Amino acid sequence: MTQAFDALVIGGGAAGLMCAMTAGQRGQRVLVVEHANRVGKKILMSGGGRCNFTNTGTTPRNFLSANPHFCKSALARYTPSDFIDMVERHGIAYHEKELGQLFCDVSSKLIVKMLLDECAAAGVRVETSCSVERVDSRDGTFALETTHGTFTAPALVVACGGLSIPAMGATGFGYQLSRQFGHAVLPTRAGLVPLTLSGKHQERLQDLSGVSLPIEASCNGQRFRNFMLVTHRGVSGPSILQISSYWHPGDDLRLDLLPGEDAFALLRARQLERPSAELKNVLADALPKRFAQRLCELWFPNKPMRQYNERELRDIATQLQQWPLIASGTEGYRTAEVTLGGVDTDGLSSSTMQSRQVRGLYFIGEVVDVTGWLGGYNFQWAWASGHAAGCAL
Ligand SMILES: Cc1cc2nc3c(=O)[nH]c(=O)nc-3n(C[C@H](O)[C@H](O)[C@H](O)COP(=O)(O)OP(=O)(O)OC[C@H]3O[C@@H](n4cnc5c(N)ncnc54)[C@H](O)[C@@H]3O)c2cc1C
Repeated sequence: MTQAFDALVIGGGAAGLMCAMTAGQRGQRVLVVEHANRVGKKILMSGGGRCNFTNTGTTPRNFLSANPHFCKSALARYTPSDFIDMVERHGIAYHEKELGQLFCDVSSKLIVKMLLDECAAAGVRVETSCSVERVDSRDGTFALETTHGTFTAPALVVACGGLSIPAMGATGFGYQLSRQFGHAVLPTRAGLVPLTLSGKHQERLQDLSGVSLPIEASCNGQRFRNFMLVTHRGVSGPSILQISSYWHPGDDLRLDLLPGEDAFALLRARQLERPSAELKNVLADALPKRFAQRLCELWFPNKPMRQYNERELRDIATQLQQWPLIASGTEGYRTAEVTLGGVDTDGLSSSTMQSRQVRGLYFIGEVVDVTGWLGGYNFQWAWASGHAAGCAL
């Protein structure tokens, strides 16, 4: 039996649920089709189980896209304050961690419950464990053939997310649908992802796995100051995840191991204060001890400070502040937080997320070529783009 709705949403993640509740509140009969056994799995696992649900400092500059202007309209019309208002209405306690990042005090489950409660109040129907077998469109009506029957509506919202963490239900279905309806898909790649090292570069750091230090990573005109963590396979930590979205294999990637310091001035001062101290001990005051020792074993000649001439100190300072990181690749979609690239925004309206080619077809959330930085920006895009489409349905 075919069941008719006003709008069908494929994907019960952050964007899909926000879109469905918004349209439902406006009186639309909405169905959310989710192939996993529960909705919002990425919300549940996000922020270490506490969901970094927004960032109060969100601006369009915090996003990557072939068209950096595309995200502006939706972000301006649904702001972090709008989401915070809803969180507060539902009595969910939260706190700011750093740089405007808001996290639940207790659990991400509360965010999923809030979205489901809003959907239920707005009369939205949610079908979980429901796989889409075929999508057709004829005479302005979309028909979804699913394992739970056939559903039709004059509007179809693709909210299938990206490719990251396939174990959590990620598929390339959104891109497939995009192509089916004649939309271009820009090349996708893993973002907010640990970088891998290989050969001698990996061997030199491997046994320092677990060491963490503040750095500033820079690549292709972007820089991020935060912690770096040495892993068995390479490097991770917030500064590396952030810069990974700007890095392509072969790109020049530099680390400032003494961010905010003038390394030459520091070395010069220590030379005067502690002329007999060896470089590795001087560096161990500013860097993790094992890391400082490794630098002196492999890269810098270790000797008492008094024995360095100015040129040598300048060389060491330059290396400390412009360390070239030779990454071999990334850990890929298995661990990436997001997928860069996706549905080309040229084919979409920035105010409604509706296709310019196919009336009634919408793309929202991560499936679109808009990707945020680490720190709550990706959820803010999911809420804002979902809200924009929900208001237009
Ligand atoms: C480990 C991890 C932690 C993260 N932490 C944060 C954080 O703290 N803050 C932040 O802002 N961002 C975070 N992100 C990123 C954020 O989760 C995503 O950007 C966001 O969930 C995207 O929302 P979406 O609705 O577009 O996609 P998703 O939330 O991925 O939802 C897509 C939904 O579509 C479903 N689906 C896929 N294919 C089909 C199909 N064929 N049929 C039916 N349903 C389908 C999926 O099962 C899924 O439920 C994190 C990501 C990961 C992986």
